[in-house]
Amino acid sequence: MTELGTTCVQGGYHPGDAEPRQIPIYQSTTWKYDTSEHMGKLFDLEESGYFYSRLQNPTCDLVAAKIAEMEGGAAAMLTSSGMAANFLAIFNVAGMGDHVVASSAIYGGTYNLLAHTMGRMGLSCTFVAPDCTDEELEAAFQPNTKLVFGETIANPALAVLDIERFANAAHAHGVPLMVDNTFPTPANCRPIEWGADIVTHSTTKYMDGHAAYLGGAIVDAGKFDWMAHADKFPGLTTPDESYHGVTYAEKFGLEGAFITKATAQLMRDLGPMQNPQAAFFLNSSLESLHVRMPQHCKNGLAMAEFLKSHPKIRFVSYPGLEGDKYYDLAKKYMPNGTCGVVSFGFTGGRAAAEQFMKSLKLAQIATHVADARTCCLHPANATHRQMNDAELEACGISPDMVRLSCGLEATDDLIADVAQALDTI
Ligand SMILES: *Cc1c(COP(=O)(O)O)cnc(C)c1O
Repeated sequence: MTELGTTCVQGGYHPGDAEPRQIPIYQSTTWKYDTSEHMGKLFDLEESGYFYSRLQNPTCDLVAAKIAEMEGGAAAMLTSSGMAANFLAIFNVAGMGDHVVASSAIYGGTYNLLAHTMGRMGLSCTFVAPDCTDEELEAAFQPNTKLVFGETIANPALAVLDIERFANAAHAHGVPLMVDNTFPTPANCRPIEWGADIVTHSTTKYMDGHAAYLGGAIVDAGKFDWMAHADKFPGLTTPDESYHGVTYAEKFGLEGAFITKATAQLMRDLGPMQNPQAAFFLNSSLESLHVRMPQHCKNGLAMAEFLKSHPKIRFVSYPGLEGDKYYDLAKKYMPNGTCGVVSFGFTGGRAAAEQFMKSLKLAQIATHVADARTCCLHPANATHRQMNDAELEACGISPDMVRLSCGLEATDDLIADVAQALDTI
């Protein structure tokens, strides 16, 4: 198998003789056919081909193929955002009357999706701490559980998921493990190698890496045997009346069923497609992912080490930092580095955090994370400002906590900026 760096640069698109080196942007909503018979075959899924960009577009497919290769998966699709990727991936196997087991350390949007929005659609969810005991994990399963969901490195908690343990538990109950791999990216962790069945991404973060385009991706490992658990997954193992009675798991097999259903049925009916220009820019960014990630990790680790020994700092969370609660798991799953995001609190409390934010010069105040320019957020004064201190503590965010996303700038300049801001406290 080619190494990741080569896949980042050349995966997905292999131009033939006298063809463009860059992936073409197919800026077209529709495709023209000579006969209705030909088009009919596409609609019947008898032949593969393009007809309408809400379902599939060649530019998006080339980039999805690259991401599938990067993750070591069998098939992939792009979506308009990371939230769309998580929603489509979950809804592809679980809906009304079904149940999900999810790690409680996940992105806030995904937590809301599972706890509230999909709840209104008749789905229930049990949340477990990523470091729960085996007994607690086991007790979370119900007869109607359809999948287990977690994040490799949780945003913003920076907890690391024990992928192998969660995969084994899911498989023992005949359901797939879905992992949101946004923070480490396949440059640092490939969850499929540890037993994950479906991997999702907010490509908005490191994959795009420049705070330019929203996007998402779903990758299927192609290993989960839907037919072996046919009664649990009727959507994949019985005829889809909305698609001429096709049974996805029979017709498209292990490697094609999940993504074909999510495309032919969910993308058709819900429509959160990525546009081909966004996919083009995503592809350009992916070409440097394996070069960018080590610098994000170098800056993140150097920052964590600097902060850890600083007298005005009360705590530092960074899974790559020796002594961190998740250091051992990070070493196992991400031996080459974790990500560029560090969170920390101040001995001077909330007021110190506020003073710190005011004094930063290089780091920019933004709700974003994981792009080239270092950015910083004080959740108690931004994303979580409607909460009082007790409510903040309850969701694991202390009033003095600041989240710093280390970009690609020179390490010494970033540390100097943080040092001068600390000096003003
Ligand atoms: C940002 C993020 C999402 C949501 O992605 P969008 O592209 O903003 O919709 C999902 N999961 C994780 C881990 C994220 O960081």
